[in-house]
Amino acid sequence: MTTDPAHPTRAPKTWDVIVIGAGPAGATAARVAAENGCEVLLLERAAIPRYKTCGGGLIGEALAALPPGLPLNVLDTARTFTFALDGRKERTRTSSAPTCAMVFRSELDAALTEAAATAGATVRDSTALTTLSERDHTVTVRTNRGEALHARALIGADGSASRVARYVGVRCAQVDLALEVEAPVDTATGDRWRGRALLEWGPMPGSFGWVFPKGDICTAGVVAARGDPDALRAFKEAFLRRHGLHTSRPLHDTGHLTRCRHPDSPLTRGRVLVAGDAAALVDHWSREGISYALRSGALAGRAAARVAAAPAEADARSATGTYARQIEEVLGVEMRASAALMSVFARNPAFLHTALTRVPQVWRHLDTYIAGRSSVAQIMNTPLARVASAVGTRLPARRR
Ligand SMILES: Cc1cc2nc3c(=O)[nH]c(=O)nc-3n(C[C@H](O)[C@H](O)[C@H](O)COP(=O)(O)OP(=O)(O)OC[C@H]3O[C@@H](n4cnc5c(N)ncnc54)[C@H](O)[C@@H]3O)c2cc1C
Repeated sequence: MTTDPAHPTRAPKTWDVIVIGAGPAGATAARVAAENGCEVLLLERAAIPRYKTCGGGLIGEALAALPPGLPLNVLDTARTFTFALDGRKERTRTSSAPTCAMVFRSELDAALTEAAATAGATVRDSTALTTLSERDHTVTVRTNRGEALHARALIGADGSASRVARYVGVRCAQVDLALEVEAPVDTATGDRWRGRALLEWGPMPGSFGWVFPKGDICTAGVVAARGDPDALRAFKEAFLRRHGLHTSRPLHDTGHLTRCRHPDSPLTRGRVLVAGDAAALVDHWSREGISYALRSGALAGRAAARVAAAPAEADARSATGTYARQIEEVLGVEMRASAALMSVFARNPAFLHTALTRVPQVWRHLDTYIAGRSSVAQIMNTPLARVASAVGTRLPARRR
């Protein structure tokens, strides 16, 4: 056992739970573990508030998973959705209620981190995990500041390039690259987008572009399977020009990976759990990840509290096993359904576009998903979706 360098005779402090990463998954995990009576340390590599490449669109499922009373700066709420097919066939549908709240991630994540601190978690930013190891029922984290920190349980919520995921052995079934800009817009352009989001199915299999309104700023981006960055950049340029959002002075112009886990990918190893993007919990089709991060973060926080309090190793294993099962039963089921939807969409976006914009019932299903009144799994289980999937996979592949 190492000793505390400041007090050589004293044994080093052992936290109940250390959480790595203060995004929605980590901040939520830290808050929930603290609410469950744990002494929690939340480490974040960046200085808070930090920028995160993200559309910042909160669907109903994400809004429902936020802690009650969280101060949320909603910049706009989309009620109208325009769909397009590679720059053509633009059609607009209106939701029965305002459904998708637009936020800046820096503000959302800072508010969630503040909620964790209020619940009792100690937050340390500008501090990155560099390595981790486990021995004698204790997890040891080394940081970029040269310290060694110890915990009874650790949650890796360090995003899509997670070091903790590498330790756990997370495997992915789908890896995409997303390119995004935040562009300031003039009043007329802002008015044109107010209350309206756009989704445009792109030229590469499984690709799409989006425009999300945020008052005098629009967030716009494109996503496709990783592997052809030149084609993705060309799609992005054409997409931004088409929608009047091409500017030589974007506020941010960044790229980021999104990863979807393989159904058999591990979620825990020893006393270490992964949540959110680190666990590659992201919707295959929409690449929505905030609701997955919030929900898996809450489950991980509760499970880590049980691991920390476990009287014997068998109890710790039972707690991590429960976490893996809970993820499979809810988020795993949703991801399998979204993978099925993605395979129809990637093969034939024209079919999905026509169904969505010409068959009112199909739009109503998507509307209930965005509003958080149903899940992709529930929708894919309806007779309409089963027939549509069967037809969509049999039709010749068509992108336009
Ligand atoms: C372009 C793009 C647009 C998107 N748009 C949407 C959208 O509109 N709606 C939606 O629901 N989802 C969207 N997503 C997905 C969403 O952004 C993610 O699923 C979500 O951020 C996952 O949250 P998280 O907490 O798991 O990870 P992150 O938000 O990535 O947080 C991880 C944190 O860990 C920190 N970290 C990393 N390494 C270390 C380390 N070694 N030590 C300490 N800290 C570390 C990072 O600095 C970061 O703060 C989008 C993704 C992309 C790429």
